[in-house]
This record gives sequence, structure tokens and C-alpha cells, in this order.
Amino acid sequence: MPPLPNIDASKLKVTVTDSPKELFNLKDLKFGKNFTDHMLCIKYTEENGWETPEIKPYGPLAIDPAAFVLNYSVETFEGMKAYRAADGTVNLFRPEKNMQRLTTSSKRIMLPEFDQTELLKCIKELVKVDQRFIPNEYGYSLYIRPNFIGTEANLNLLYSREALLYVYLSPVGPYFPRTVKLCANSKEARAWPGGVGNYKLGGNYAPAMRPAMEVVEKGYDQILWLLGDDHYVTEVGTMNFFVFWTNSDGEKELVTAPLDGIILPGVTRDSLLALARQWGEFKVSERKITMPEVVTALSEGRFLEAFGAGTACVICSVSEVLYENTKYAIPVDPSDPDAVFGPLAKRLRDELLDIQYGKTSSPWTVPV
Ligand code: PMP
Repeated sequence: MPPLPNIDASKLKVTVTDSPKELFNLKDLKFGKNFTDHMLCIKYTEENGWETPEIKPYGPLAIDPAAFVLNYSVETFEGMKAYRAADGTVNLFRPEKNMQRLTTSSKRIMLPEFDQTELLKCIKELVKVDQRFIPNEYGYSLYIRPNFIGTEANLNLLYSREALLYVYLSPVGPYFPRTVKLCANSKEARAWPGGVGNYKLGGNYAPAMRPAMEVVEKGYDQILWLLGDDHYVTEVGTMNFFVFWTNSDGEKELVTAPLDGIILPGVTRDSLLALARQWGEFKVSERKITMPEVVTALSEGRFLEAFGAGTACVICSVSEVLYENTKYAIPVDPSDPDAVFGPLAKRLRDELLDIQYGKTSSPWTVPV
């Protein structure tokens, strides 16, 4: 039997909308609320493999009520961005990392394998078709959301023999820079050993919503997810978490949780680690740290900065953590009481943004 067809970008069928939207008012852009004219859809069946990829007008999907995705949460997704450089060209940032993570996540929930290079080619075409929506202003970008779902109508739990991979686009404005206040949570776990926290599955996000709402009601921005009796500091909200301190051995160190199956392997996390390692100015570690260690470092004046990192905001500096009924002030920038970024957070953010917006040339920047 010949192999079943994989995604083939050369066959991409494009149907252009006959009712193009007005461009969105930049000042009204809200993250993930405005969508462009088109979407990419690619269907899969176990009998016939991947069908012809199609770019078509953005609109509702028809899904059988008994589909796997609607019953058993057979869904994985990605989040990446396209940026317009000052010369007008449009670039993606390390998109192959998102293709790899989508593959790893989809395998975990028995969704079919796909050709990552061909999917990326189709995504580039979609971005090109809707590129008029990418604002020509620094800080703005086009958020790209691939979704991959199990669509077979079958209540028997085995795996979905039909699937749909679709991608849509949302222009986004600059993340308003401000520091964030965290509420540590050791009562509920986002992820646990043997669990699926390292995969980008929709099913990981729904259970985090009630705890997240509770901290917002208390006046905090995000959860600092702690795990286990030793209060291992894992992630912040939906970002990876970094601490910059003088460690107990007296070394300056940037540290973030290791890829131990608990945390999501963030593209931003990986990029910041690489940048800091290139500088070679301080120790850069991927290792477990606990909240009691953080508290000790704060009380001994060894704590320099903490920040969250992810595609949506790039970097958010932390100014306060509530932990076991005590509020801990986290230093941001001791030389500037109004600073919204610590000195290290600012330097990393500036370097990363310069790469993403094509000011600094880098192999991480991929033209569409
Ligand atoms: N952790 C979680 C739980 C996330 O949802 C995200 C956002 N994808 C991140 C970390 C950051 O990942 P990235 O840098 O790839 O956006």
C-alpha cells in the first residue's frame, strides 16, 4: 500500500472572501478578540490521510455533536506571532519550534502526525493572504493560532480517526507594560509528575480558570504555580518563570524550572536562556527552585529580579508575591521606583524584540 497523503502545500487551494473586513482600529485591538478575513483548514481521515489544504473565509466550523473534541477534549493548539519589520517585510519567530511542539502535543492525544515543513508553508501563505492586517508599528503583531482537534463522531474512547487542523489570525497590540502581582498556589496543581503539563493541550487550561479567577478577585494578576510539599516553583499563569539572584553559593544566576515534564517548554523561555548563555556574564540554570529558597533569598537581600516569559507579553516583571498569607515585595529596579521592568528583564526583552522586529538579524527570524 502506498503511504497515505501528507499535508502538501503545493496543492493549497485559496478561496478569497468576497466581503473583506475593514482594518481594525489599532487603539481598539484587544488580545485575541479580532480575527482576520481567512483561515487555513486541513482535514484528515484514517482511510485517506491528509486532504488538500484550504485557505477560505474565516467562519464557523461544522462539527458533529458527538465529536471527540467536544466530549473528551481531544485538542491541542499553538501560539506564535508574525511581526512586520521597519522595511515592511513580515517575519515569523522560530516557527519550527511551534511546529515541533504541536507534533509532540498531538502525539500525546493520539492525533495524527503531519509534515511540519508543509504545514509551516501553508501558514506562511495564510499570513501572506491576510498581511494587510499586520500593523506597520513597533509592538504590534499578528498572533497565529493553530488548533488541532479530533473530529470523529464516536463516543467510544480509543482515539479519533478523523481530525481537523485549522489556523486563524488575530492582530494584536503591544502588551501594556506593567509589573505583575502574583498569588502563590500550592493547593491546586496545574501539572504534576506523570501528567501532561509539558503538552499544549486545551484540557490543561480549563481547570486553571477557576483558580486564576480567584486570584484576580483578590486583586492579584496571576497564579504562581507551586507543586508538591516542597513548594517547587513551576510557572506563572501561562508563562514560564525566571528568577535572577545571587544564589546560596554566592554566584549570580538566572534560573528557571527544568524541562521535567511539569512545565510547558516555552519558545520564549528557550530563547531567553540562549541569549543569556551567549552573553556569558552569569550562570544560567534550568533547575528546580522552591518557594522557601525564594523567601530566604529575599530576606538575605540576594534576590535581584523575577519575571514571567511567553509569546503574548514577551516578559513581565514581578513586583509582589503573596505566599502563605505574607506579601513579599519583589525587587524590580532599585534605581527607579517607577520601572516596569527590571534591568535584566529589560535587556532581554529589548534584545528579543529587536530580533522579532528584524532590527537585529538572526537565524531565528523566518520571512513568510
Ligand atoms: N507556559 C504555559 C502554560 C503557556 O500556556 C505558555 C504560552 N504558550 C508558556 C508557558 C509560554 O510559552 P511560549 O514562550 O512558547 O509562548
